[in-house]
Amino acid sequence: MNKKSIVILGGGTAGWITANLMATHWADKGFDITLVESPDIGIIGVGEGSTPPLKGFMDTIGVQESEWMPECKATYKVGITFKDWATKPSFTQYVHPFLCQPDQFTAPAFFHNCHLRRNGVALEGHPDHFFLATELIKQKLAPITPPNFPFEINYGYHFDAGLLGNFLAKVAARKGVKYVQATVVEVVLNEQGNISVLKTAEGQSISADLYVDASGFRSQLLQQALKVPFISAAESLFNDSAVVFATEQSEQIEVQTISTALKYGWAWKIPLTHRNGNGYVYSSRFVDADKAETEFRAHLGLLDSDVAARHLKFKVGRATLHWAKNCLAVGLSQGFIEPLEATALDMVQETVVRFIETYNKGQFTDQYRDEFNARINSRFDAIRDYIVCHYRVTSRTDTDYWIENGRNEKISFSLRSILSSWVAGKNITDELERQKLDAYFPNVSWSCLLAGKGVYPNPDQLRSGNELANQYKIENIERYLKGCALNFKPHVQQLNELKR
Ligand SMILES: Cc1cc2nc3c(=O)[nH]c(=O)nc-3n(C[C@H](O)[C@H](O)[C@H](O)COP(=O)(O)OP(=O)(O)OC[C@H]3O[C@@H](n4cnc5c(N)ncnc54)[C@H](O)[C@@H]3O)c2cc1C
Repeated sequence: MNKKSIVILGGGTAGWITANLMATHWADKGFDITLVESPDIGIIGVGEGSTPPLKGFMDTIGVQESEWMPECKATYKVGITFKDWATKPSFTQYVHPFLCQPDQFTAPAFFHNCHLRRNGVALEGHPDHFFLATELIKQKLAPITPPNFPFEINYGYHFDAGLLGNFLAKVAARKGVKYVQATVVEVVLNEQGNISVLKTAEGQSISADLYVDASGFRSQLLQQALKVPFISAAESLFNDSAVVFATEQSEQIEVQTISTALKYGWAWKIPLTHRNGNGYVYSSRFVDADKAETEFRAHLGLLDSDVAARHLKFKVGRATLHWAKNCLAVGLSQGFIEPLEATALDMVQETVVRFIETYNKGQFTDQYRDEFNARINSRFDAIRDYIVCHYRVTSRTDTDYWIENGRNEKISFSLRSILSSWVAGKNITDELERQKLDAYFPNVSWSCLLAGKGVYPNPDQLRSGNELANQYKIENIERYLKGCALNFKPHVQQLNELKR
């Protein structure tokens, strides 16, 4: 096999994750990898929360937490609290936890209670009683296990997106990735419709065997040059704008992202070691930018502050193909499902890892390209449905935004079937397995979402259960989780130890 040359267009998080993964996985192949980044077009600069697979990425590229976390002002994350997404008494907030090994003793109780409550038995069905992550969140404890606690804990991170990009650029350079600062102004295609040359404003002509489009929402190669169509998800996900502020960090750093529903969308709070990142994601169809900023300032207690806000626009949906001709798209250039579950970087990682696998399997040809595209499309659609579900089952009715979301019929058949199965009191694992969706968001995530928002029969329809129904005692579960939590250190202490 000839040595391949690869050009990655874009130096945002997606570009640098790709550069590191390709340089690591193909280290023995001696491929020539170059990342081209415009000195004038900035990165999007948001995207500061991750899911657990980011740990696997750092392990794969050979980077320790003590090396990257302090430099990127990173903190640990064990889940997301959703506040004010529902109005039902006792169900106005809940945690979507990252499941971990100690939960294997308590999750059966959650599923049991949840199942019977859906079938009319008065049992505790709120997810916050059952998972270790929720206890770590309450006590602000870091998810790092001591040697005498032999269970694996699943966790993600929060980090400064700009600093993470800089850090990953240094690691990629150590792995032999070349870096060119230039703005691509023309993309030349050959007779077969493949990309043959990128021409830059600085007068260079850059050629490669394979091009990676990591140019952000511009999608300069995939959507602009190769004209791959984009499928919008706007009819089921109304948000298209965000306003972003940084606020000061307190001494007790949270170990979670907080997502609070506001009048026309929701606000994130992402704790870093030196600041909190805050953003209000809203729909410009229901509120203008000034009004959204004022509402958000009031929410943050910043009405009298002159701290500057940054406004962003985004589009939700995905390209029909992620690998077209000799171009792979990663990150915002391939699509974006809004940031509610912080899944975008996970999608970048998944796209690149699956691409490497597929390209290897096809002996560096496009033999398995269709299979790859189908797989990535399924992932996008599964994530979209999980996020749409947050809006569809809302019990808020305070604005037209929430009313329209709650009665939106433009949801997929797949989501409709999951919801029907839940409401009918069936085992939704069967439905998720039937649709092959359990690999994306598993039963526990769907159950936390629906139970956490109180999608149960009304309390006056519930009857008390017999002894078998009441077999799990909440006080025993809480005692067990509190006992487990004794093994973990305060978040701030753990972060300080990393610096040493
Ligand atoms: C409001 C919001 C919140 C988000 N929150 C999260 C989150 O919590 N978690 C998460 O995982 N993701 C989140 N995301 C998504 C996340 O921000 C992106 O997935 C991530 O930052 C990767 O972006 P990117 O690298 O694809 O694009 P960008 O950061 O936009 O980078 C694009 C790069 O391409 C370069 N470029 C573009 N055109 C050219 C050209 N012609 N020539 C040369 N260079 C060019 C630019 O210079 C830049 O380096 C969020 C997104 C939004 C909009």
